[in-house]
Amino acid sequence: DVAGRTVRLSHEYADALPELAVPWRAASAPAPRALVINDALAAELGLDAAFLRSPDGLALLVGTAPPADAVPVAQAYAGHQFGGYSPRLGDGRALLLGELLTPDGSLRDLHLKGSGPTPFARAGDGLAAVGPMLREYIVSEAMHALGIPTTRSLAVVATGAEVLRESALPGAVLARTAASHLRVGTAEFARGTGDLGVLRRLVDYAIARHHPAAADAANPPLELYRSVVAAQAELVARWMLVGFVHGVMNTDNMTLSGETIDYGPCAFIDAYDPASVYSSIDQGGRYAYGNQPFMAEWNLARLAEALLPLFADEPDDALARAQEVLAEFRPRFAEARRAGMRRKLGLPEDVTDDAVEELAGGFHDLLAVTRADYTTAFRSLSAAARGGDAPLRAALAGADPGPWLERWRAQHPDAETMDAANPVYIPRNHLVEEALAAAAAGDLEPLGWLTAVLSTPFAERSGAERYASPAPADFGAYRTFC
Ligand code: AMP
Ligand code: MG
Ligand code: MG
Repeated sequence: DVAGRTVRLSHEYADALPELAVPWRAASAPAPRALVINDALAAELGLDAAFLRSPDGLALLVGTAPPADAVPVAQAYAGHQFGGYSPRLGDGRALLLGELLTPDGSLRDLHLKGSGPTPFARAGDGLAAVGPMLREYIVSEAMHALGIPTTRSLAVVATGAEVLRESALPGAVLARTAASHLRVGTAEFARGTGDLGVLRRLVDYAIARHHPAAADAANPPLELYRSVVAAQAELVARWMLVGFVHGVMNTDNMTLSGETIDYGPCAFIDAYDPASVYSSIDQGGRYAYGNQPFMAEWNLARLAEALLPLFADEPDDALARAQEVLAEFRPRFAEARRAGMRRKLGLPEDVTDDAVEELAGGFHDLLAVTRADYTTAFRSLSAAARGGDAPLRAALAGADPGPWLERWRAQHPDAETMDAANPVYIPRNHLVEEALAAAAAGDLEPLGWLTAVLSTPFAERSGAERYASPAPADFGAYRTFC
């Protein structure tokens, strides 16, 4: 099928921002082998999944055979990492192959991770191991199914090359798509060039691609900033509502589009605890579950600093405008979180915001004292709304939810709303590890089952109880690694 083999990639980013793009080629892959190809996403993108599985398709997915007219580039960016500034990070082990025009008319980046060292690799080898790439595949696709804006994973292809970590591991390339890979760190890098023309072009490009309405505003750069503040407030609220801990919210891992990006040391909470930290390198708990809104706000302040000269000619005016817009973050976050809590608690629209906050606070107090499983406890509210308290009482063992239940029921909670807001299935840490361990041993079946269950997280499946259960006690404390 000749048509299926034609993958057209534009190079708008490389053309618009050559100062932020280094044309580069992927490393060779001795024996490409598909580990997982995302048929549903391929269809959405207008790509032929059968072609992607063919030798030519695999060569595209590991980057060794991009379309003839494509201009693959490593993207430049800077970033505040754990609070400290690195002026030059960039794609050390990744390439933007180009942009895909999808059948619905939107532009999506096609990007590879693990495709070999670039000029930004510094001491890194430019490679990725199979485990972490499959992990990004599982979790990013789960996030998408949960309705959370995210980059998507199109494929993980084993390269046949070895990657040296603590031991020798099989290497892989992840092919992912995104609304774009523009990051807060991209703006920081552009500002660092000292050329305001580059910064202006970046802003124009980001506006055209993500927030086109900003072009018509009185102050387009400021309006872009406002749009990013709004998108990130909404995004982080959604993370909080499902118990997602990103783990490494450095400014180079925060998009201007408002999509979740870079699934390294991320994890989902079991028990509700704002201090939950999983990343082995986050020793101070900077990116703990409960800190995420504050860290997002901090990152957005760094974005404002980068864009400041475009907000106004006078530095004082620019700063005042930036602060005014950044001040919108907290109310927007609070509003998004409260709207989500309203759905999670099934509370009708006529219930006041104060009553929503009071009931949400009371429920979180119960979760905290009982160390209940966050996901199970919320899901058990549906049965409680339908009259069956037993699952909720089991989830909150050790506390008496009676008085709270009475106040909640008085507001006439709706079980169907809750069923659509409280997932049965999330990528639980022990299930992800189990699927990765099996894959490492050559068995991809557990990964297939897990991704299937996670693709419809709100629909209870018979026979899938183990996917809805908390980690067994012997799973112990969970640690993640980048
Ligand atoms: P991360 O914390 O994974 O988002 O990555 C931070 C920076 O390190 C980015 O510039 C990455 O491209 C770079 N990096 C991470 N791992 C590697 C690697 N194995 N080889 C080269 N660069 C890397
Ligand atoms: Mg990153
Ligand atoms: Mg990374």
